[in-house]
Formats: sequence, C-alpha cells, structure tokens
Amino acid sequence: MERLQKVIAHAGIASRRKAEQLIIEGHVKVNGKTVKELGVKVSSSDRVEVSGIPLEQEEPVYFLLYKPRGVISSVQDDKGRKVVTDYLQHIEQRIYPIGRLDYDTSGLLLLTNDGEFANQLMHPKSEVEKVYIAKVKGIPSREKMRSLERGIKLDDGMTAPARAKLISMDKKKQTAIIELTIHEGRNRQVRRMFEAIGHPVMKLKRERYGFLNLHGLKAGEARELTTHEVKQLR
Ligand code: URA
Repeated sequence: MERLQKVIAHAGIASRRKAEQLIIEGHVKVNGKTVKELGVKVSSSDRVEVSGIPLEQEEPVYFLLYKPRGVISSVQDDKGRKVVTDYLQHIEQRIYPIGRLDYDTSGLLLLTNDGEFANQLMHPKSEVEKVYIAKVKGIPSREKMRSLERGIKLDDGMTAPARAKLISMDKKKQTAIIELTIHEGRNRQVRRMFEAIGHPVMKLKRERYGFLNLHGLKAGEARELTTHEVKQLR
C-alpha cells in the first residue's frame, strides 16, 4: 500500500505537493469515490482517477544491477555525478533503487518501479540475507570476528547476529578479506561495524542479496529479474 499522493506523483502527473493539492481540491477518485484526505493509502489493484482520467498503471519492472564504485544510488544527483539509473537508460519506466549502496561500494543493487515490492524488501522485518566482501585494514583477531557475529554496539543500537568469515589475509600489507553476512540494512552498516572493531573498510562489495548473486554480470551491467525470482522475493 502506498500513499495516494505518492502514487499520483510516481505516475508523473504532478509533483508530490501538486498531487496533495489535487486531492484536497477533490479532483481525485479512488474506485469511483472522491477522496479528499491525504492519509489514504492505495494498492496497485485500486483504480485511481485524476480529473476523471484513470492513472496509467506503469508495467512493473525489476532489474538487478552490478553497481560500480563511484556511483550514487539515486535517480539524479545535483552535483552531476553518475547515478545508478544511468546504467538503465533504455528503460522507459521510472525505476529507482531498492535501498542503497554507498558511493564507494560496488555490487548487487535491485531497481524497480513497484513501490509495494520496494517497501516490502526495505522493511526492517524483511530480513533478506545480504553478503558483503570487505577488504579491511589490519587482520582482525578471532575474538573480533566473534564480536562481529554476536553483535556490535553502534550509535543506532546493537547489530543483529551476523556471520563473519576470514577469506584471506596479506600479512605483509596487513590487510584481510572478510565475508560478512547480515540481515539488516542500516545506513553504512558494514563500514560502521568494521570501524567499531578497529579495522576500517578499504573496499566493499555486496555479493549476494537473498538468493540473488552477480554471476554473469560485469560492473555496470544489469539484467531483468525473472518472474520466478520476483515471486521468490515477495
Ligand atoms: N554497508 C555499508 O557500510 N555500505 C554499503 O554500501 C552497504 C552496506
């Protein structure tokens, strides 16, 4: 379910503010009934009309992008930096990323125009497993690896149980590659967790999101999800 004004704005009819005005002024009908309150939520099965014209329902589309480093997880950037939708310019629908990866993080990012699907996956209760590969400064001790797994106290609370696996280490350069599997999706969570144990991240990649991986894709490449994959994620 999504707020009516957001649905109207997403359909490209008006800005969010203009959509609110249209609702208040009585120009919007949901399933044939005029709605003048702003709190109303609608689902994709509801029929929305603006000034008597039904909203064109965009066909829902779902993409998996191998986001390169140095790209913003957004649909536009006021500083003119590259954004993730630059890699999907041929797509007609107004897609946007489901959650975000940091500017310097590479890896698996989903994009869609299906608001309900996006909200569902971004909800803290969705608990989709995310696997990250981090190159960190120094070589974390076994005890520190255990603390990553048990939970780390961050500014926004304890992290949930995670899995941390040492993939390799370079004793000469004093760096390590660690696979960290988490179920949450807080802002800069992986970087903050490693920072907290005194091993800052030098490089970060999201390798897996639930059962989805990056197989067959190079950085900057995307593919459409299959209907089956979309169903499995719901
Ligand atoms: N955790 C981070 O710190 N950065 C990301 O981009 C994703 C997860």
